[in-house]
Amino acid sequence: MDRRSFLIAAAVGPMALSSVGGRLADAAEPTTTPVPHEVPLISRAAWGALRPRAGLEPHTPVRLTLHHSGVRLTDNSESPSRVQQHQRWHMIEKGHPDLDYHFVIDRRGHVFQGRNPRFRGDTQTDYDPTGHLLVCCEGDYQGVSGPPQKPTPSMLRSVALVFAAAAQRWEIDPRTLHGHRDYTEMTSCPGGELERLIHNGSLQESVEQFLAAGPVRWRKMPKAEGRAVVHRIESS
Ligand SMILES: [Zn+2]
Repeated sequence: MDRRSFLIAAAVGPMALSSVGGRLADAAEPTTTPVPHEVPLISRAAWGALRPRAGLEPHTPVRLTLHHSGVRLTDNSESPSRVQQHQRWHMIEKGHPDLDYHFVIDRRGHVFQGRNPRFRGDTQTDYDPTGHLLVCCEGDYQGVSGPPQKPTPSMLRSVALVFAAAAQRWEIDPRTLHGHRDYTEMTSCPGGELERLIHNGSLQESVEQFLAAGPVRWRKMPKAEGRAVVHRIESS
C-alpha cells in the first residue's frame, strides 16, 4: 500500500470502508461505527506544569521520535514529580521555553501533556527537532545508571496510541518512527531496549494496528479528574 492509500485507509478505518462497499449488497446488515481509541491525557494543569515562556517556534509534526528520560524509575509513584523535574531542568537550567517533549509516558502508561505539539520541541544534542513529534518514556532503557529497565506492556501501548493519534491528526507516516539516537551520535537515547523495538518494526506495527482499527483521539482530562489521577499515581 502506498503512503497515500495507507493514510486514507488509516483515516477512515476498515469499518467505514467495508460499510461503503456493502451498503447496497445487504441493506439489513447493521452498520457499526468504530469506537475511537482514546488516549487519556493528564493535562499540564493537573501535573503542575510551569507556564511556557516566550520563544516557542511553530512547526508541523511530520515524523515520530522516541526518547527516554535516561533516569531509572523503579517506583512509578514518582512519575508526576519526575515530569515536573524535567520541565524545570529544561526551562531553568537549559533556558528552553518549555518542557522539551510533547508527551511523557510513565511505566504504567499514564500520558502527561507536555509542550503543545504545534510548537517545535527542544534538544540538548545536535539534531534539529523541527517537524519531530517528541514522546519521552520515563525510565532508563540503556543502563546508564545500572542495568537497563525493560519497557512495560502498558507503557508501550500508550506510546503506540500517542503516536497513532499524532499520525492520524497530522497525516504522519508511521514509517517515520525512529529513536533520538538515529539522528545524532551524541546520545544513546531512547536506549537499546526501546531502540530494538523500533528497529525490528514491532512498535511501528503497533501504531499501524491502532490506525487500522479506526479513530484514535486524545482526551484531555478535566483538571479535577487529572488531579485525581495524579493523586492516585502518587499514592500507589
Ligand atoms: Zn532523547
